[in-house]
Amino acid sequence: MPELPEIEAHAERLTDLFGGAELEKFTALSFTALKTFSPDPAEAVGSALGTVGRRGKFLLMPFGEVTFVVHLMQGGRLVVDEKQSLKPRFGLARWRFADGRALLLTEAGKERKAGIWVVSGDPVEQEPVDHLGVEADAVGRDELADLLASKNMRLHGWLRDQHYLAGLGRMLANEICHRAKLSPFAMTAKLTPDEIDRLHVAIGACIRDALGHERTLDAMSKSADRPGAVHRRKGQACPVCGDDIRAVEYSAYEVDYCPTCQTGGKILADNTTSKFLK
Ligand SMILES: [Zn+2]
Repeated sequence: MPELPEIEAHAERLTDLFGGAELEKFTALSFTALKTFSPDPAEAVGSALGTVGRRGKFLLMPFGEVTFVVHLMQGGRLVVDEKQSLKPRFGLARWRFADGRALLLTEAGKERKAGIWVVSGDPVEQEPVDHLGVEADAVGRDELADLLASKNMRLHGWLRDQHYLAGLGRMLANEICHRAKLSPFAMTAKLTPDEIDRLHVAIGACIRDALGHERTLDAMSKSADRPGAVHRRKGQACPVCGDDIRAVEYSAYEVDYCPTCQTGGKILADNTTSKFLK
């Protein structure tokens, strides 16, 4: 799933490409695409696209008073619609501009989870982004400490929970734990001040690195092509110490880590009663 850096760079690309273009027509191509009934998306017609923003993993596309809030989920992509065919493959919605160009929201696969919310006024105060936590790239060290103390759970799951920090997903959670030399299963309320310092630095550094890479690209990267140290690198050598990267595998994702760098050599198992968990 695209995370904060990919969404941020994509927002910048969309602003460069379509900022200032006047909306001529919005069309929902799939009945699952539009998550709101009011306001009518037609209220945005005649307004120009402002600076595309981001909140967590959501894109914010403002047209005057109306904002389209877009979540790409796993397979959604917001791309230049070159063909503008009647029934585009995987098409969920289209924004057609007065200059003849168009943007298309597509979603490959069968999941149909990507969505668009149309809101009037400040989008940050409204569904679906009003419940999101602090932006992960803006959280202060002490603020992070307070948030970690507020809920005692495994660090990897905590980093992915959008109520505490917004914008991180499976890849950054893996990379941040590795960069901070912390076990992905470390309990959040038990972290020491030194560990919280390392975590804070790692969050900033991992986001900065990923955003720097993403900004060099013309289109959003595929997750397999994103540079990293541990994410989906099970069996490969840790770039820091050379140990084998290990994985705890779940049905939908894996927690990847380096035992030497992160767990004092311990192998993690997904068993909440395991004595190996810390
Ligand atoms: Zn290592």
